[in-house]
Amino acid sequence: MTTDLRRLVVVGASLAGLRAVEAARRAGFTGSITLLGAEPRAPYDRPPLSKALLQPDGPAVVQPFHTEEHLRTELGVDLRVGAPATGLDLAGRQVVVGAERVGSRIDYDGLILATGATANTWPPGVGVPGVHPLRTAADGLAIRAALDAGKRVAIVGAGFIGSEVASAARARGLPVTLIEAAPQPLTRSVGPAVAEVLTGLHRSAGVDLRVGTQVTEIHQTGSGVTGLSLSDGTTVPAELVVLGIGARPATDWLRDSGLALHRDGGVLVDATLATSAPGVYAAGDVAHAPLSVFDGDVVRLEHWTSAAEQGAAAMRNLLDPLAARPLQTVPYFWSDWHGHRLQFVGVPTADEVHVIRPEPERFLALYRRGERIVGAFTINGRREIMRYRRHIVGRAPFEAALTEAATPAAV
Ligand code: FAD
Repeated sequence: MTTDLRRLVVVGASLAGLRAVEAARRAGFTGSITLLGAEPRAPYDRPPLSKALLQPDGPAVVQPFHTEEHLRTELGVDLRVGAPATGLDLAGRQVVVGAERVGSRIDYDGLILATGATANTWPPGVGVPGVHPLRTAADGLAIRAALDAGKRVAIVGAGFIGSEVASAARARGLPVTLIEAAPQPLTRSVGPAVAEVLTGLHRSAGVDLRVGTQVTEIHQTGSGVTGLSLSDGTTVPAELVVLGIGARPATDWLRDSGLALHRDGGVLVDATLATSAPGVYAAGDVAHAPLSVFDGDVVRLEHWTSAAEQGAAAMRNLLDPLAARPLQTVPYFWSDWHGHRLQFVGVPTADEVHVIRPEPERFLALYRRGERIVGAFTINGRREIMRYRRHIVGRAPFEAALTEAATPAAV
């Protein structure tokens, strides 16, 4: 471990930031760690916000990963919640919190950037009661309350989050309209052949899925939203509108820092998660990192597993840069739709998507680029997906994956 590191600062008190803190203590770091979080609560897990929290029989509370007490006493963290970083002084090695002139400055020897992403909004809907993005605990609790009240639901965007909200609404028997500009849900993430199966999942669960159309107007009265107009000329009545239209890196505060940023605002890092500035690493949804398993494709993943892995790896590499190795990240995500578990491992950019099993309740597709397997998508193949992860990491020929697919697996 580098011995001249005494003061660590982690900006972003969520999954990647927490994993970074835990990795520092696990590595035997005994100096100070300051964890800055913009939200007014201790780190918590986001996937349940669009799953268990919205289910009719799910818990109506958001539990933290650890209590504040545990973070302070067991992990020895100076936790500051409701304290967004507002600037970064790379030359002076300081993070600014609060207004530039009156805010405080926190010195660091090593810094982890883990500020994640912020939900995109749709300007005509901003501030209209009943219109919500879904990124934070506060968003999730507001949507849960509206579902409990039996509101009619319209969802803009049939990505993971929009589709999970649609599933929760249907589980309650509520009418739900899901509006998607593309011809199918998730086309960019899984490719058209697989997206068609996902369309079927929504329709057979009773979701009114409108594809190839966009919201043009919002209707409201004094008490809130009442519906939406779409570009196909139809209108959709709704008292709850959920925006599932993506997220952007939370880096406005870094814009004048001189740190190298991607054109979408994400932080550019190398394969060890080091940024362009000495002693500064980035991890999680905010980071654009090369995927060494895929010949250096540079991507910004918004997946739980990579945020957790990168948080820990960024800290290990910061503490011991001479031992740093490129992270062997293989993108992986899961999502729960209408009682089905969707899982994808690898990347969807492929020369061929080979559907092995077309039945929606046990679907399997493999993705080929050149001669190798680069991705696999399953529905309800909980353990099976990991077989293909091994092939992807090992750069196995596509034929080997096809042979594997012909072998019965535990699902
Ligand atoms: P984030 O979780 O976004 O956390 C960043 C934190 O930094 C936030 O708390 C933010 O308030 C804080 N912050 C931002 N700016 C500042 C600042 N200037 N100063 C201080 N703090 C700041 N992934 C899956 O693989 N499977 C799923 O099923 C799945 N479901 C999801 C459901 C929902 C509703 C959401 C929102 C995400 C889901 N994800 C899922 C994605 C997964 O949760 C994210 O990839 C993960 O949370 C990323 O962690 P992170 O720590 O990088 O960023």
